[in-house]
Amino acid sequence: MLSRLNPPVIYLDHHSSTPVDPRVVQVMMPYLTDNPGNPSNPYHLLGRRAADAVEEAREHVATLIGATRSEIVFTSGATESNNLAILGTALAYCGPRKRIITCAVEHKSVLEPCRRLADRAFEVIILPVDRMGHVDLLALERAVDDHTLLVSIQLANNEIGTIQELEQIATIVKRRGAWLHCDGAQAVGKIPVDVRNLNIDFLSISAHKLYGPKGVGALYIRGGVKRSGLQPLAFGGGQEWALRPGTVNVPGVVGFGEACRLCKEEMDAESLRLAALRDRFEQLLLERIPQLQRNGDLSHRLPNNSSLMFPDVDADALLLNLPDIALSTGSACTAGALEPSHVLQAIGLTREQAYRTVRVGLGRFNTQEEVETAATRIAEAAFRIRALGTTASGTTPRA
Ligand code: PMP
Repeated sequence: MLSRLNPPVIYLDHHSSTPVDPRVVQVMMPYLTDNPGNPSNPYHLLGRRAADAVEEAREHVATLIGATRSEIVFTSGATESNNLAILGTALAYCGPRKRIITCAVEHKSVLEPCRRLADRAFEVIILPVDRMGHVDLLALERAVDDHTLLVSIQLANNEIGTIQELEQIATIVKRRGAWLHCDGAQAVGKIPVDVRNLNIDFLSISAHKLYGPKGVGALYIRGGVKRSGLQPLAFGGGQEWALRPGTVNVPGVVGFGEACRLCKEEMDAESLRLAALRDRFEQLLLERIPQLQRNGDLSHRLPNNSSLMFPDVDADALLLNLPDIALSTGSACTAGALEPSHVLQAIGLTREQAYRTVRVGLGRFNTQEEVETAATRIAEAAFRIRALGTTASGTTPRA
């Protein structure tokens, strides 16, 4: 089957972003065209209709994670939700609890706000993880004390797919009365998440990771905004209980809601299908490159994730050789320099191994044919590069 993407690449980069499901686009369209109503204006029919659509979307988001509508605040995505949960808690509770705990494999949108707070009289502890990416629970137990304000641990990792033991983490954190935030950007919509069982206070969600549009997300707040006491980071409007002022992104939110509704209906079957495709992909590659190493917790990872370390091939060379296969490397361009991923280094990979890691993220519209073609072509490219003994850009492999 031909890819409907333009240009027609085999898209295996679903941890970065997912295509918007056409069914989601359909539901969004009226709010981009026929209805310009502002949901904050209840005086005319279009405003009221927009407000109803936002509330219906809120219901779909809440239902996906076992929450109630009053516990969902719409934001611009998981980056904002993470910042709001962390900085908003610090602003709300600047009493004797001064310790904030997170872990080494968190997304930068968790690590950076924590670092900001470390500059402002908070004590920030970044816990280590083991080789599979799990938070060291003993270290957590030792770190959480009666002066701990907040613990922020992700549900699933965006590079290696490892799913954290959140129930155990919550038990440890709640024993000491600290707040627990969880970055669910990669997990919600991919694996079952029910906040009623997880005992967390805040959960960040992103629409564009679950086949919704970019630039919209939510923060789940246990018991709602008022009860949490969470403080806003912006001012000048009463929207979203005045925690997140500004006109709500109606088409985005409506699309997000529909995307959540579809995930709720289809997630179980979809994750089985994707895990089988992912296993097939890995099997094909391992047959050709037996020295290939898989990162993460192979028995407890996202069904669509595969993080692969090629023993003697640079990932950027591999990706440059395959411009029509969308993959991602284990490094990120930070301030103009290619830095190896902090996640891969945190699980014990050397800089060189991190540079040789490719992240694969399968998604809803991938076919078996695409996955098999990708595996064959990735293996062929790896052999070609190895035979040349150089990277695609002509440089020798980095140390
Ligand atoms: N957290 C994690 C784990 C992510 O993977 C991402 C997206 N890369 C984010 C947060 C940020 O999400 P958004 O793009 O919605 O701001």
